[in-house]
Amino acid sequence: LIRIEEANPGLEVTQNFSKQSNIKVAVRLRPLGEKEIDEDHFEIVQILEDKVVLLRDPLEMMNQKDFLSMNRSKEKRFAFDTVFDKDSGQVEIFNNTTKTLIDGIIEGYNATVFAYGATGAGKTYTMIGKEHDPGLMFLTIKELFERVAKTQSDKSYQIKVSFLEIYNEMIRDLLIITNEVLELREDSTEGIHVAGLTVIDVDSPEEVMDLLFFGNANRTQEATNVNATSSRSHAVLEIQVEQKNKSEDVNEDINIGKLSMIDLAGSERAARTHNRGIRMVEGAMINRSLLSLGNCINALVENMKNGRNQHIPYRDSKLTRLLKDSLGGNSRTVMIANISPSNLCYEDTSGTLKYANRAKNIKTTITKNIQHVERHISEYTKIIAELKSEISVL
Ligand code: ADP
Ligand code: MG
Repeated sequence: LIRIEEANPGLEVTQNFSKQSNIKVAVRLRPLGEKEIDEDHFEIVQILEDKVVLLRDPLEMMNQKDFLSMNRSKEKRFAFDTVFDKDSGQVEIFNNTTKTLIDGIIEGYNATVFAYGATGAGKTYTMIGKEHDPGLMFLTIKELFERVAKTQSDKSYQIKVSFLEIYNEMIRDLLIITNEVLELREDSTEGIHVAGLTVIDVDSPEEVMDLLFFGNANRTQEATNVNATSSRSHAVLEIQVEQKNKSEDVNEDINIGKLSMIDLAGSERAARTHNRGIRMVEGAMINRSLLSLGNCINALVENMKNGRNQHIPYRDSKLTRLLKDSLGGNSRTVMIANISPSNLCYEDTSGTLKYANRAKNIKTTITKNIQHVERHISEYTKIIAELKSEISVL
């Protein structure tokens, strides 16, 4: 994106989205936690000034006698549109990512924001945050209310929210306590929607804050070896802004802008958690959703770039089916790749940076997708082989 802007000096610099691409990829590095410091974790990620992330191999770092003797070929560098260092606060992230989407949403365009990354990398902190330090979902809603209040002259607005999770390819309402599995429906009047999902008309950002904490506590969480609580569900907050003219005409069109904000399931590989049986199946499903999301983004970027009309594989997962409206067309997408600085997260961090790099890479070809699928399947072939050998031992 940066390169495109430089090549087209006529484009507005303040506009974070260029005309050619509607996908912006940011990386957020979190600081080491207290427990990690106590346990002598060390940092293997460094943010260089020019929006470059430097990832070092922890083994190489431990073997080095001094910094200068380090084998630089073991370093990996990745460049992104925006890179947030460990001391970046929630408001800074907001100002440089979703804030730029708000005008479009009020005008009736769709947008999508993802937090991607392994469990413990900071996705929920980024999207939901803490009560005293709220994240992107709250800050975005707050800004929406403020903007709407300012523009309310001949128009009236209503902000509506829903909050759901996709767990194991099943959709559940997070705004009520229920085990009911909801179905995705597609029809000409409502488009793609989740039948029976709670949609709440909200009147203040504080009201949304309460809903977010309630819904997040309601998510399916399972204990794994990786972390005390590993989130294997995708949480999707959908914010709708309805805009009407304050006229008597009941037949007048309603403008609806939709913003989907998604706290994705952990992207760590199922193999690493040594999960077996049902848990591994969940891992496979989650990876399928994430893989499918990556494939859709790649295909969209490719179409945008070449003016082609290649098939977008939305139907491959619940997540991509649900986001069909907001990912395609005139919609804008922000992906925030969350990473941990810890030496123990080397594999995950490397995986996340590669995924994010692919998402931003407008040169991505279909061939690359196919390679990715093959590697993905081979991972599971290996796990299945392992499982089979366990069974034969029994
Ligand atoms: P995830 O949702 O990706 O599994 P969390 O958002 O729960 O990860 O973050 C893991 C831990 O790290 C939490 O205790 C969280 O408060 C902390 N954390 C994450 N990001 C930051 C940050 N940018 N600054 C400070 N603490 C953070
Ligand atoms: Mg989380």
